Parts: sequence; structure tokens; C-alpha cells
Amino acid sequence: MPKAKKQEEINPKADNADQEWVFKPYKLAKGEEYMNEQQREHFKNMLLKWKKELMEEVDRTVSHMKDEAANFPDPADRATQEEEFSLELRTRDRERKLIKKIDKTIELIEQDEYGYCDLCGVEIGIRRLEARPTANLCIDCKTLDEIKEKQERG
Ligand SMILES: [Zn+2]
Repeated sequence: MPKAKKQEEINPKADNADQEWVFKPYKLAKGEEYMNEQQREHFKNMLLKWKKELMEEVDRTVSHMKDEAANFPDPADRATQEEEFSLELRTRDRERKLIKKIDKTIELIEQDEYGYCDLCGVEIGIRRLEARPTANLCIDCKTLDEIKEKQERG
């Protein structure tokens, strides 16, 4: 007899965020309809929580940068600091884009169009969406897409 699997917390990594976060996986009932109201609610909550965390992160950096800004009279220190800032700004830029993507995804949920592959229309699947809540391609299309991208890059 296989051992009963312990309910694990999932820790999805966003497409392009460095941040990790934890969420309880959805308990799928047998024969449950795909993307019923409960599931949509689950993903919406996930996305809202993620967005909130990203926005807090953006706020933290901005105030951190303000605090540090005038603290280095030495030009060499300032150069290092500016490098750090531009790195942080790039990260923040990625996060802002991600927040936009999250907003769009929440819209999809509200329009009841969430969870289906953009290219072939199949169900993306609960577990894949939990790992990547903003995924808009099924695993097959995503794999093909990546192969194509690699070929185009040479
Ligand atoms: Zn597909």
C-alpha cells in the first residue's frame, strides 16, 4: 500500500520574480468541475495575495532608496550605490510588469476565461496553475514555444 501523501505547501516561483511564496494547494474533490466557482476563488485569492506582496516589496525598495540616497558624499561610494540602485530599479520594473500580468489574469478569472491554453484551448490544469498562476499556455504548447524560441535565437 502506498503511504498517504502528506498535504504539502506549495511554493511556486513566478515566471520572473525572485520572490518565493507559500500557499496551500487546492483540495480537489473527485469529479469536481474544472474552474468552478471555488477554484476560481482559490486562484483569485492566490493572485491577490501575490500582488499584495509584490506591491509591498516595491514600496520597501522605494523608501529604502530614499533613505540611502544622500548618505554617500564620496563619489566612489556613490557610483557603487548607483549601480545597486539601477539593479534594484530593474527588479522593480520586472515586478511592476508582473503586477500588470496578475491584474490581467484576475480579469480573466472574473470573465470566467481563466485556466485554458491560449493556443490550443485545453485545460491548463490546477496543479500547473498553482505553480504558475499566470500561465496562459498548457505544458505542451509552452514546451513547443520554448523550443521555437531557442531555435529562433540560433
Ligand atoms: Zn496548449
